[in-house]
Amino acid sequence: MKIQGANQRVHAERLQEARSLDADQNGLIDDQEILAHLQLDGLDLTRGDARALMDEFKLHLQKRPHPELSSYPSSDQVAEELGQLEHRYPELARRVSLGQTHEGREIWALQISRGVRCEDTSTRPGVVLTGLHHAREWMSSQPPLEVARQLLEGYASDPEMKRRVDRAEIWVVPVVNPDGYEYSRSQDNWWKKNRRPVGETACSEPTEAIGTDLNRNYLSPRPQDLELYRPSGDTPCSTTDDFEHTSDDPGSPHYRGPQGSSEPEVQALLRLELGRGNIRGVLDHHGYGEMILYPWSHTQEPPPDRERLRDLGQRMNQALGSDFRVMQSSELYTNSGSSDGVHYANGILSYTLEIGRSYQPPSDQIAPISQSVARANLLFIDEVLEPEQQEPTLAIGDSRP
Ligand SMILES: [Zn+2]
Repeated sequence: MKIQGANQRVHAERLQEARSLDADQNGLIDDQEILAHLQLDGLDLTRGDARALMDEFKLHLQKRPHPELSSYPSSDQVAEELGQLEHRYPELARRVSLGQTHEGREIWALQISRGVRCEDTSTRPGVVLTGLHHAREWMSSQPPLEVARQLLEGYASDPEMKRRVDRAEIWVVPVVNPDGYEYSRSQDNWWKKNRRPVGETACSEPTEAIGTDLNRNYLSPRPQDLELYRPSGDTPCSTTDDFEHTSDDPGSPHYRGPQGSSEPEVQALLRLELGRGNIRGVLDHHGYGEMILYPWSHTQEPPPDRERLRDLGQRMNQALGSDFRVMQSSELYTNSGSSDGVHYANGILSYTLEIGRSYQPPSDQIAPISQSVARANLLFIDEVLEPEQQEPTLAIGDSRP
């Protein structure tokens, strides 16, 4: 368990130093400086394309327009595509707002199931595919969108797509964090959190800090799951005992929020995922690193049905061309309040897919990554429809909620 507070302070100082270097040298920053910053920021460059990550970080320091901006759809353009799919396939798809963000944007989902407009499809097994919890991970909205396209465009001609749409209820949420994503597109490509001001909390005087790391903010409604949000040994308000990549410091990019499930985006997702009652699988897309991560992330303890999670993870990896690594999330680093752990604790099969080799891969990589990751998504949907092994067991507590 690493103590992060001191590192973050050093990092902030060094970041300041890099900015002044930038000013002095007219945009030329020494690569070694950048590497040092990235490593202090906790990035594992061996799992990505170090050159691409360094270039993305330079854009952040220099606040220059991103050269790939127009290759990635804005949150409005994603919403428009979901609307077009609904329009073209009204019997199979319905665009639904799950809720609103602090800045008033809708969190759009596409609900896909046969007869979605006139039948109660909540009797079918539900799967939720999410992207863009983290604002800077631009690639992560694309595979869920690609799955929506393939299911609907293939329905009439491909019996496998028809079977999935007929038998499952599939929710595609490409942009969980539209406020953060738009800020990342227009202001700072390195931005990670949402954009709700932290304000005054139980721990602090009013602060200027903005944003919560949405994938550290998930709180399971079952009291016995508190450890998933705040592992023992991590004291509320204190930043000296923070877990690696999860912080009580509102200024940290990994801030867990003033309290569990405090953020409107997380509340909207949980209303669907735990509230609807039929959701059996959640696949959450992130970037980068080419990894298939299964719970837990808050502890090194293995999950109770680790073999099943590993087996399905390996089959998804085969669908991806076997280039990904399959491992327990905490083998990467420990964190808490994540989507996958809370879902798993509530009996929902759940993985985090880390896709691509940088946060904003070049445009020629968008389609190939989307298509290969979509294959893993389809396999996941099939597993939820017809499990090859038994249902996941609950790790904490005695009974299903
Ligand atoms: Zn992420």
